[in-house]
Amino acid sequence: MIINSINTGNFKLDGGAMFGVVPKSIWNKTNPADANNLCDWAMRSLLIEQKNQLILIDTGIGNKQDDKFFSHFHLTETDLFEAKLNKLGYTKSDITDVFLTHLHFDHCGGAIQWNKNKTGFEPTFTNATYWSNEKHWQWAVEPNPREKASFLKENILPIQESGQLKFIPRSGNTTENIFNNIDTFFVDGHTESMMLPKISYKGKTIVFMADLLPSIGHLPLPYIMGYDTRPLITMTEKEKFLVEAVEKEYILFFEHDNVNECCTVKQTDKGVRVDQTFSLDVFFN
Ligand SMILES: [Zn+2]
Repeated sequence: MIINSINTGNFKLDGGAMFGVVPKSIWNKTNPADANNLCDWAMRSLLIEQKNQLILIDTGIGNKQDDKFFSHFHLTETDLFEAKLNKLGYTKSDITDVFLTHLHFDHCGGAIQWNKNKTGFEPTFTNATYWSNEKHWQWAVEPNPREKASFLKENILPIQESGQLKFIPRSGNTTENIFNNIDTFFVDGHTESMMLPKISYKGKTIVFMADLLPSIGHLPLPYIMGYDTRPLITMTEKEKFLVEAVEKEYILFFEHDNVNECCTVKQTDKGVRVDQTFSLDVFFN
């Protein structure tokens, strides 16, 4: 197995929305806001090569929305994904599987692109199976008003229309029968049935945190995004996960932390906190 981290680009989101009930005087120390109260975030994907599979986990925001939409997010380097993929020796058509943790636009926007004549949309990865799950899919195609701005029709419906969509079962071995050495666990606090891959690699377990723990700044239990639909559920899910992460010495891989790619965690008097920070490359080489 070969694992590569690809940052599909950076964007900005309101710091208050990202930290929920935590006051700015506290979160601003770890995640400094600009004059408009916006903080910087990454949109990292993982690219995993094994046997006959080339698996992409999440795709970033993509490039098909209009200028007005993108102007809210102050994107940087979001046009470099393909170049980064090519540099690793792959093209878009080499991807066999696209694993979407959930269907919010900053995670799946890159999965769908404009067609050649800009008359409609098509899958960015023509040879890939796109993986979601039934419960989350239903949730996303009939969105509640609070999440509606995050579930964009043009990111979601073309996946199904292409015939490339498949669902991961929520119970049983989930993904162990689909991808070697990758298990998946489900959480419901951020949105309904978000899927987090746990990857066994060189004797370690790397967990793709998606929006359960968007950044190191979110490790303390009450630091929960205002975006979460069920914050108390997130708190329970985080608590359980972090105990397991200490015990099993997991490597936490952050999709949105624009400074720290990975960390390990340890138990302290205050609760579970960061132990070491590093990039995947440095850790495994
Ligand atoms: Zn996100």
